[in-house]
Amino acid sequence: MKNDTIAAIATARGQSGVSIIKISGSDSIEIADKIFKSANGSKIKDIEGYQALYGKIYDKDEYLDEVIVLKFTSPHSYTGEDVVEIQCHGGIYISEMILKLVLDSGASLASPGEFTQRAYLNGKLDLTEAESVMDIISAQGKKAAKAALAAKDGALSKKIEKVKKELLNIASHLSAYSDYPDEDIPGLGSENLKDRLEEISNDLEALLGTYEAGKIIKEGVDTVIIGKPNVGKSTLMNYLVGQEKSIVTDLPGTTRDIVEETISLGDFILKISDTAGIRDTNDVIEQIGVKRAKDKINTADLIFAVFDLSRDLSTEDLELVENVDPSKTIAILNKSDLDIKFDYKKLAKKLKRQVFISAETGSGVKDLAAAIADIIKVEQIDLDDGFLFNRRQFECAKKALNSVKEALDAVQQEMTLDAIEVLIEEAIEELLLLTGERVSEVVTNEVFSRFCVGK
Ligand code: GDP
Repeated sequence: MKNDTIAAIATARGQSGVSIIKISGSDSIEIADKIFKSANGSKIKDIEGYQALYGKIYDKDEYLDEVIVLKFTSPHSYTGEDVVEIQCHGGIYISEMILKLVLDSGASLASPGEFTQRAYLNGKLDLTEAESVMDIISAQGKKAAKAALAAKDGALSKKIEKVKKELLNIASHLSAYSDYPDEDIPGLGSENLKDRLEEISNDLEALLGTYEAGKIIKEGVDTVIIGKPNVGKSTLMNYLVGQEKSIVTDLPGTTRDIVEETISLGDFILKISDTAGIRDTNDVIEQIGVKRAKDKINTADLIFAVFDLSRDLSTEDLELVENVDPSKTIAILNKSDLDIKFDYKKLAKKLKRQVFISAETGSGVKDLAAAIADIIKVEQIDLDDGFLFNRRQFECAKKALNSVKEALDAVQQEMTLDAIEVLIEEAIEELLLLTGERVSEVVTNEVFSRFCVGK
């Protein structure tokens, strides 16, 4: 545990109303007092915690900015240490000048995530809660933010705690029973042991199942736009993204490769790819694009199949329909601003979910959100429930499950209680790694290094 006092700018770099410089550690109050003169003459060290002072920051005699200083005292602060926050005028120059002054006065620059790391080391958060802080910062959609907040409040930790307690219970019972054979400790009974392990195994399976849902909420729905050339795929993509990204032309086959964008639509984040139109072509480069488009179609969670309402339904359109899984496809009937020639009723026999839009004017695009919700059923996921949010957590839970399953096998094969106990302890060990209760510095450093400086 480092004892030195750290500081960083906690707000985003750029123009803003206020910027915040955060100082944490045992010298934070003394350091802030060196550079701050309050309007009423009070020193920061003399006021109570959780109070503010108005005043000015000075670099020796040079007046730098008018600020508000907030004081938080250990242990009731974000990091658990004494914390001072200086709210200065927003903007890169002023906040960096003040940070430099704080560093010259004895603080060292915080490394990425170091404030949260200290909170973790001081027992304010467990590792899954700390990781969710990062998820809150990077959440791009309402649902992701809500789920990350639930995780920060310990939803995942509680779920793991329940499983861990039950495993500890079994392990201690087994250990007492085999270590003190002379005492009158009742045996667990292999049926009872089996039932309890099965329940734990089901809980862990359910937890692992949240990972995919968590990924959709956090990283977005893997979406692909397909359709024959010139139906308006690039125009739709550009409308959704809000800027000219794909090349829009009147020549069929201008989109040659996959253009990827992340957009937010209704409650969803979509990771959306505009593919080359699927069609027979002799152009080698375009053929590669077509192949990639086909691969994408197989792996995507959601398919936007775009059709041109101003033209007749063609065999090419029908072939395209054969290539998609209707359960994850929305037929987007584009160019609804033009006269309709397209037989969408015939199409409905294959693709039931249809949305009429004009990618050029944007009309109808909002109806897409409801159609997406029909396919990606995130509404059914309880966001306040614990989620496995990242690969690290997933791997720990999976190893714990494997050990529990091995323990179940061992019970069935009537192996010794010692052997079963070892497997249960392995599962507990993995859960302790998951929450960070027993985790190496290398792992925590890796976790916190992915944070931004100032958090
Ligand atoms: P892509 O080959 O499927 O990517 O098609 P583009 O997006 O390049 O569009 C082909 C042509 O259709 C362009 O001239 C667009 O301006 C036009 N277009 C696209 N969407 C609409 C629409 O909703 N209404 C009308 N009238 N024209 C559109």
